Amino acid sequence: MQAACNGICNHSLLFRLLKLVICPSDDMGSTNGLVSPPGKKPLFSFGVISDVQYADIPDGQSFLGVPRYYRHSICVLQRAVQKWNNHRNLNFVINFGDIVDGKCPSDQSLDAVKKVDNEFQKFNGPVYHLIGNHCLYNLPRDKLLPLLKIPGLNGHAYYDFSPSLEYRIVVLDGYDISAIGWPQGHSKTLQALEFLETKNPNSDKNSPAGLLGLERRFVMFNGAVGREQLEWLDGILKDATKLKQKVIVCCHLPLDLGASSQEALLWNYDEVMNVIHRYNCVKACLAGHDHKGGHSIDSHGIHHRSFEAALECPPDTDAFGHVDVYDNRLLLFGTDRMQSTEMSKTAQEA
Ligand SMILES: [Zn+2]
Repeated sequence: MQAACNGICNHSLLFRLLKLVICPSDDMGSTNGLVSPPGKKPLFSFGVISDVQYADIPDGQSFLGVPRYYRHSICVLQRAVQKWNNHRNLNFVINFGDIVDGKCPSDQSLDAVKKVDNEFQKFNGPVYHLIGNHCLYNLPRDKLLPLLKIPGLNGHAYYDFSPSLEYRIVVLDGYDISAIGWPQGHSKTLQALEFLETKNPNSDKNSPAGLLGLERRFVMFNGAVGREQLEWLDGILKDATKLKQKVIVCCHLPLDLGASSQEALLWNYDEVMNVIHRYNCVKACLAGHDHKGGHSIDSHGIHHRSFEAALECPPDTDAFGHVDVYDNRLLLFGTDRMQSTEMSKTAQEA
């Protein structure tokens, strides 16, 4: 059995040396073609990674046939943490969810989550975690949330924080109403199962077969933001508006079709966006879950960016990045398979 990497991976020293010769700037902070505005310091910066989905199992593929590298993905995370630490000016890191894959043998789930969390803890600063469906296949909320130190009341995983006077980061819990993660028979589980029963006629509720267009999101591996959380979000955005703060919304599940496949959207993305569109403070919505990644600008000028998955990086390739936040723009510097993205009022969709 191939062991997962200890420390930084050395799959192919030659490959990495070649890469340094071919792309010398790659390890120097100017990644994937985006250049910082000269002479202007960001208000704050943070690292991003999504869908590590580590498991000590052989490589496989998604139901669409996309290769998945379950053991290599933790190496991507290790290289990410090393690069974030070398950067020296990152204030925190946000993990966009799904740290361990659902295919991880259940007797290894706890150890696998701890192992991935241990890699995150090597970052020299705070790490904010979002929960994803794969996290919840491995551990129930009451075990997962304390382990990852996710704040939130009554088992919920939504919270906000303000890294600078000018900005607020809002983390949504996309599995608030969900058939996974809550105890069997819990009112939220029942609510989700009832909802799926009305929306998805398949016996396998993880299958979108026969569902058309946007209906294809009504599958069990997605979820919804509940009523109470919507009211909380509304209150946060009202408060941010009063304080003249700009807001970055983070959710494991994407909120805009332009940045996601139909199958990956939050069940009630439209309700969440209706709340967001009541205000002018939200500048970007960042997400994971839709592994190929995407970027769009919605009708209100809000940028939506779904991140490319670490899981789908072939050996010795990467998908992570960092975001520099300015008063009028966000610059995502992606590494390798993560595209760099300028998110500003004037930025055109790539
Ligand atoms: Zn997911």
